[in-house]
Amino acid sequence: MLELISRLEREHSLTESEYRQLVEGYTPELAEYAASRADRVRRQVYGDAVFVRGLIEISNICKNDCLYCGIRRSNTSCDRYRLTESDILDCCREGYGLGFRTFVLQGGEDGYYTDERVESIVRAIKSEHPDCAVTLSLGERSYDSYKRLFDAGADRYLLRHETADGEHYSRLHPSELTLSTRLECLHALKAIGYQVGCGFMVGSPYQSSEHIARDLRFIEKFDPDMCGIGPFIPHKDTPFRDKTAGSAYLTCFLLSIIRLMKPNILLPATTALGSIIPDGREMGLRAGANVVMPNLSPVSAREKYTLYNNKLHTGTESAQALKQLKDRIKAAGYTVVVSRGDIKKEQKNG
Ligand code: SAH
Repeated sequence: MLELISRLEREHSLTESEYRQLVEGYTPELAEYAASRADRVRRQVYGDAVFVRGLIEISNICKNDCLYCGIRRSNTSCDRYRLTESDILDCCREGYGLGFRTFVLQGGEDGYYTDERVESIVRAIKSEHPDCAVTLSLGERSYDSYKRLFDAGADRYLLRHETADGEHYSRLHPSELTLSTRLECLHALKAIGYQVGCGFMVGSPYQSSEHIARDLRFIEKFDPDMCGIGPFIPHKDTPFRDKTAGSAYLTCFLLSIIRLMKPNILLPATTALGSIIPDGREMGLRAGANVVMPNLSPVSAREKYTLYNNKLHTGTESAQALKQLKDRIKAAGYTVVVSRGDIKKEQKNG
């Protein structure tokens, strides 16, 4: 196993079956070793810098019915909301003052956000904060729509592939959503010129080590700029309410593997990881992550954007507590920086 980790660090590539061996070979000791190598690599590329992103959850209205997600359309207990352009600009203004230089607009697939509206929002943010990056995470849209938003100034797009296995994909989603459409979207985003993030949930229902191996191999080939992975956490008003949550430890091991595979990648210690165990975010950073995304949504919206139960949105998950977050990150051995935090492309691997 140690040999596989070393080879991944040297060559940034393994076969699907080798990734599977690694995943199945997980032990706390192996994970600790992988984390120490990953941390070394991450420090070579980014030093001790941690990039922060202000996450603005613009709407929990969604036309989709993903079986894992708390804001799926069939959930009638979900108290729905959406933010207007002026709400979003207020969040950005506050975030800018706090030191954020990237705003991530995430939401359900809410038809209110036409190309025209999102374009206007993106232009307004970019004109008020020209030194900031805008990241969109608004689900599946057409090539033309992605292109229009890119031309309006959007820099990055997060669209997790969720699972790289078509059959597994169909067990997590209703039949109208397919892996092939998801992948088409990801390829379109890349072709247009966005910095693109894919990703998946760890321990999603029916996920096997083979599936994870396939995810890793997909990430290796697709070569994203960002990769969001976090544990699956059940939500009580979804069909997966009784399913077991994913492991924070396996998530961290996978973060290390991804860091060794892609030394320059932007890798968040996700909210889900911080929600499932108390020091999950710090563990993620030590395993090779270099991004955190505190919540910058209006407080009234935060409770309602419940993708899974017990989702953190207060304390150091909250953008307003950036000072506290900085202290915790410092204590973990890293430094929060005020910067757009773009991917380093030129760095030589090795
Ligand atoms: N509509 C957007 C944003 C989805 S929410 C889109 O389609 O991309 C962002 C991510 O949260 C999802 O991609 C999913 O991987 C994750 N997520 C949703 N429900 C979750 C759950 N129950 N546990 C953990 N992560 C979840």
